[in-house]
Amino acid sequence: MPVARMTAGGACLRTALVLLAALAISTSAFAVDTPASAGPAAAAAPAWPLVREGQQGAQVRTVQHLLRQRGETIVADGIFLGLTKAAVQRFQSANGLSADGIVGPLTWPVLLVPLDTGATGEAVRALQVQLNRYAAGLTVDGVLAGPTAEAVSAFKTERGLGSGSTVDVAVWQWLVGGAPSVGGYALPLSRDVLPRGEYDDPHHDYPAIDLPVPTGTAAYASAAGTVAAVNDSSCGIGVVITDANGVRHIYCHFSQRVAAGGSTVVAGQLVGYTGNTGNSTGPHLHFGIRTGTTNRCPQPFLLALYDGVAPPAPATLPTTGCYYATPSPARPLLDHLH
Ligand SMILES: [Zn+2]
Repeated sequence: MPVARMTAGGACLRTALVLLAALAISTSAFAVDTPASAGPAAAAAPAWPLVREGQQGAQVRTVQHLLRQRGETIVADGIFLGLTKAAVQRFQSANGLSADGIVGPLTWPVLLVPLDTGATGEAVRALQVQLNRYAAGLTVDGVLAGPTAEAVSAFKTERGLGSGSTVDVAVWQWLVGGAPSVGGYALPLSRDVLPRGEYDDPHHDYPAIDLPVPTGTAAYASAAGTVAAVNDSSCGIGVVITDANGVRHIYCHFSQRVAAGGSTVVAGQLVGYTGNTGNSTGPHLHFGIRTGTTNRCPQPFLLALYDGVAPPAPATLPTTGCYYATPSPARPLLDHLH
C-alpha cells in the first residue's frame, strides 16, 4: 500500500487546536462580512481540473477522446503517458496555447466541442465518459441520442443549466470540474484514484483519515457549504467547508487551494489539489468531519459514498473505532500518520 510517511501523533492534535482557533476567527469574520438579508450565494461554476502526465482514469480518457476528435490517433485507455502528453502539446501549439502538455483552464475551453442532439464521434464518447462519472451507466458508443440525451438533460436540470441535450462549454465545465454526489454528499477524491480498502484505514490518534494520493490529485467538496481557507504549519494549505447544518468538512496538506475563503461550493466541486504541505512527510489528503467540537469517524461516510449509497448523517457517525487510541510497539507511531 502506498502509505504516506507519518509523523508523530501530536501533530494532528495541534492541527485540531489550530483549526478550531482559525475557525473561531473566520466565523466571526463571516458574520461581519455577510449582510443579514443576503441569501446563500449561487454556486459558482466548478474550476477546470488539471489533467497531466502520470494521472489515470476518466478525466484522462476524456482528454484522449477529445484529442482523437481532433485527429490524434492515441488510444483512449485512460492512462496519461508520453504519447498523450505529446498530443496535448501538438494541440496546444496549433491553437496558440503554451505547450506545457497540461490540460487546464486555458486548454479545456479550446479542446472541448459543443455538441448538439444527434451528434456522433469521439467528442460524444468523451461526453459519455463524463456522464458515467455521475453514474449514468451509458454505453460509450459516441452517439448523443436516447439514454445519453436523457442523461445530459437530467444533468443540466439538476444544476440549473437549462433543459434539452445540447452541451455547451458551461455544461462541459460542470461535467469535467465536478464530481458525483449521493444524498447531497460527494467523495472527496475521484472514485477511480483509490481502492475501496483505503477508505476504512484508521487514523493515528483521533477520528479522521489519511488518504494516500500523489501530489496534484483533485480534491472535491464532500458537502455543499461555505469555504474557510486554512494555511498554517500543521494543516498546511487546506480548506474547511461548513455545511448547512454547521458540520465542518476538513481538508489538509494541499499543494494548491482552488476554492477561495468565503466562497460557496456545491458537493462534488473541486476545492483544491492534494499535496504535502504543513506537518506531513508524504503526499496525502487528510480528511476529517467535525460536528461542534467532536471529531467524527469519516470512514463509514466515505465507504457509503464509494459504494454509491447515501451516507449516514455526519452527526450520527461514530467517534471511536477509527483510530489507534494507544500506539503500541507493534504499531509504531511512524506507521500512522498525519
Ligand atoms: Zn491526518
